[in-house]
Amino acid sequence: MDYKIALIRGDGIGPEIVNEAVGIIDAVGERFGHTFSYTDVDLGGCATDKYGVSYPEGTAEKCRACDAVLLGAVGGPKWGPDRPAAERPETALLAIRKDLGLYANLRHATLRPALVDASPLKKETAEKGIDIMMVRELIGGIYFGKRGRYETEDRGVECTDLMAYSEMEIERIGRRAFELAQKRKKKVTSVDKANVLETSRLWRATMHRIAADYPDVELEDVLVDNCAMQLVRDPSQFDVIVTENMFGDILSDEASMVTGSLGLLPSASIGSGKPALYEPIHGSAPDIAGQDKANPIATVLSVAMMFKYSFDLSEESKAIEQAVDAVLSAGWHTADTMGEADKLVGCKEMGRLIREALKA
Ligand code: NAD
Repeated sequence: MDYKIALIRGDGIGPEIVNEAVGIIDAVGERFGHTFSYTDVDLGGCATDKYGVSYPEGTAEKCRACDAVLLGAVGGPKWGPDRPAAERPETALLAIRKDLGLYANLRHATLRPALVDASPLKKETAEKGIDIMMVRELIGGIYFGKRGRYETEDRGVECTDLMAYSEMEIERIGRRAFELAQKRKKKVTSVDKANVLETSRLWRATMHRIAADYPDVELEDVLVDNCAMQLVRDPSQFDVIVTENMFGDILSDEASMVTGSLGLLPSASIGSGKPALYEPIHGSAPDIAGQDKANPIATVLSVAMMFKYSFDLSEESKAIEQAVDAVLSAGWHTADTMGEADKLVGCKEMGRLIREALKA
């Protein structure tokens, strides 16, 4: 079968890491007998330079014509906050997620066996293992709510950001989380702030209502502040964590850090239909762009998620993960995950080593 993939290479290290990821996709194709065709899509700072806007017309249509989207990273100091919104890369990211209806962001935070020492956690805590599927609501809540800024008579400027959630939005992300848990360790941790927020009380009630449809899955409620603590105290207790947009933004970065390196973690943004979008969790790392120093592994593992969730090819997905582990266990590392006894390689060489391991 021929799979169509939209490639958003983006800015900074984006083009370098996407190049290596494409090499891995082709290597999987060779090994397992699949073919792939690619469509390049301009989005982010590079699109602003070319067309004057970060999200050119027709971007969503080009992506919808494909089976999946792979995104490197967008942004950089050249397109900073002083630019008009239409020229800023972040505007394009929010727009593509919204236009493709990508309401669920899945981040798989795992501690790879060769990297226990890279985790900032105590060794005995890290050794218990980390394998968390963080499910974040992506197109609702405070990031998309109404905002305002007013002059007051006696208190200077006042601003508001509105957090709103409907039952429908909560239910669809909740069901995603329960379905994922059914294929994992069958536990969902629903994170909210139900002791304070009305949106959280609706969140909690909805999660409990739908839990009845998944009797094989255990549901627990954890307040967001407690969850932040538990993630550093004992992350091994978590299986699937589901939460709203802003809590998820913060907690998923925390979950990522405890695994050791930003350069290693993949993500998938999924909606009701096709295509889903896959991207590393890190940004465009302008400080190392164009120097062959970027770690391509988060993007390569995003491709592994693409095989599993968009193409339903679990064996291929596992083969990519095993190839990555084999290279890391053999001591090959980019600078960001290097330990004293490891051997330093650049982005291209890391890609080549993973391709070789895939053939083995
Ligand atoms: P960043 O993730 O780009 O970089 C943080 C640090 O981690 C830097 O020191 C960087 O060199 C390092 N790093 C990141 N990815 C790496 C990799 N693959 N290999 C080795 N080292 C890596 O975060 P930032 O510096 O806060 O943001 C830089 C730009 O990226 C900003 O313009 C920001 O808006 C953008 N950004 C984009 C996305 C996205 O495209 N989804 C996400 C986050 C940030």
